[in-house]
Amino acid sequence: MSSDDFNDEQLDAARARYLEERTKRLRSDGLRQFQELNGEFADLDRDPFADPDFSRDPVTQDTDVVIVGAGFAGMLTSVRLLQHDVSDLVIIDKAGDFGGTWYWNRYPGCMCDVESYTYLPLLEETGYMPTMKYASAPEIFAYCQQIGRQFGLYDRALFQTQIRDTVWDDDIGRWIVTTDRDDVLRARFLVTAGGILSKAKLPGIPGIETFEGRAFHTSRWNYDVTGGGPTEPMDRLGDLCVGIIGTGATAVQAVPQLAEAAASVHVFQRTPSAVGPRNNGPTDAEWFAGLLPGWQAERIRNFTEAVTGKHPEVDLVADGWTEVMWDDTQSAGATPEEAERLERLDFETMESLRLRVAEVVEDPETADLLKPWYGKHCKRVCFHDDYLPAFNRPNVHLVDTAGRGVERVTPAGVVVDGVEYPLDVLIFASGFEVTTDLTDRLGWDPVGRAGVRMSERWHDGAHTLHGVLSAEFPNLCMISIVQAGFGTNFLHFLSESAAHVAWIISTCLDTDIRTIEATPEAEEEWHMRLLRTAGLIANYSLSCTPGYYNSEQGNNPNGRRNLTYTGSLVDYVEIIRSWRSDGEFAGAKLDRQT
Ligand code: NDP
Repeated sequence: MSSDDFNDEQLDAARARYLEERTKRLRSDGLRQFQELNGEFADLDRDPFADPDFSRDPVTQDTDVVIVGAGFAGMLTSVRLLQHDVSDLVIIDKAGDFGGTWYWNRYPGCMCDVESYTYLPLLEETGYMPTMKYASAPEIFAYCQQIGRQFGLYDRALFQTQIRDTVWDDDIGRWIVTTDRDDVLRARFLVTAGGILSKAKLPGIPGIETFEGRAFHTSRWNYDVTGGGPTEPMDRLGDLCVGIIGTGATAVQAVPQLAEAAASVHVFQRTPSAVGPRNNGPTDAEWFAGLLPGWQAERIRNFTEAVTGKHPEVDLVADGWTEVMWDDTQSAGATPEEAERLERLDFETMESLRLRVAEVVEDPETADLLKPWYGKHCKRVCFHDDYLPAFNRPNVHLVDTAGRGVERVTPAGVVVDGVEYPLDVLIFASGFEVTTDLTDRLGWDPVGRAGVRMSERWHDGAHTLHGVLSAEFPNLCMISIVQAGFGTNFLHFLSESAAHVAWIISTCLDTDIRTIEATPEAEEEWHMRLLRTAGLIANYSLSCTPGYYNSEQGNNPNGRRNLTYTGSLVDYVEIIRSWRSDGEFAGAKLDRQT
């Protein structure tokens, strides 16, 4: 089917259906519909994987760099710093090991939806060959541990440690970092590498606290309840009724595993995901061995170009992502004709994904309910070969909530449309905070120059240069999506950010630069650039069904500043690279030692 095959009548019908489905899902509480895993839900945030009896003596020391976060962002920043001969660094994480996302997300079926050869960083440096085109979570977690060992990061890590406060001391030109294990670190530079999907959230469903069965969030999977483990089948659900709330990328991977293991599975759906074919397969060792030096950087860039409308000459990855995202249909289009052409292409892609549902799911009513009615950039497209077929099993029941969400949770189960579904186990596949203020997600509030807290200076949202430096917070380098890049292959963004931050820090340490921060003028200029880029996709985003991409279409008071760079990640990378090669620190205020 080409875009011309989509006639005007079909186009109008699809537009009307998109609007109708979006309208059903709009709600006045936006982001406030969710609740945090604290207070009465604090137990749901407990680390089920770490040793609860772990203890160590407090550490008190001066160091060049403290990096908060031991996921890929923190690890890559450390590796790049070491390569710049900055070896005096400390990595802190509340988790019990390296891995970040891949430490926490151990739910059955968890895997990376981006090709392993472009997602897993440092493959040329480590010599590691991923076993499959799409790697499973246990393999990625093990790879994180390998990086930790190979680059000597374990000796520099403080795990199971939470930041209490980070306070800039202008007199000594250092960050004073204190932790819940009574550590006191005095660091010349502080790097926040907290990830984007690190703070799990719960749906704010009435009665959720009353459930008397076992309940947990997917990112804190409770194998005591389900039996099995990330690499072994679950063996305690054979007589149990399991409910799962949410049908995003996580649920798409977990549901097929639950379907195999549980007596019954009820999948509570508010909005269906778009699910394309996966076609995973083992790595061809001969092909991998024949890759020429520099192949990974080229492949990573090629993939990002292919999924952001840059139309590279060759599509090296050639998978579901590059097929679905080949045309960047969310840009405004230079002319009305071009805008309509892009809209048709988008409908065409989504229509093919809807047709796939009808082909795979045998019961027509269930198939209808599983069809996604929104544009392809509204939610992360999923790729999975077993999710849709799971609904053909007699023990799997789709409970669609007609866009309204679960009505109530009772001590015995979940209520939708007045019907109670009794459950033994309730799993929340309800996602993570993404567009809230950075300090909310960090879990602490940096104190900059003159005692100003970040939440005070950023009371109306973020103020940064490139998302990395901020005025009044000297020698603070941030790696987060706030005012920075974003991409289908998030590792591309993290790798480039890590290189950027390591360059800034090592250059300052190697020269007479005592402190670096953004100037307020440069922050405003950057913000205007972000707004201009966001303007190109504003209408598309507004027309979307609610989700975390658009802050649930709610009124996010700081949303005007807490933007991401919405152009191609390739362009963002070019901006920060040329800023470095220019060597002038444009837009930064430097304090040089005299
Ligand atoms: P999401 O935020 O994508 O999904 C949350 C789900 O919970 C949605 O289906 C949402 O419905 C549903 N929900 C929320 N509140 C209610 C309610 N009151 N009643 C019923 N349903 C409700 O979280 P995920 O954890 O699935 O995915 C988050 C992100 O993590 C992904 O987008 C992706 O970026 C990443 N991820 C990546 C993977 C990878 O392979 N790289 C794998 C898994 C996740 P609604 O859609 O209506 O809001």
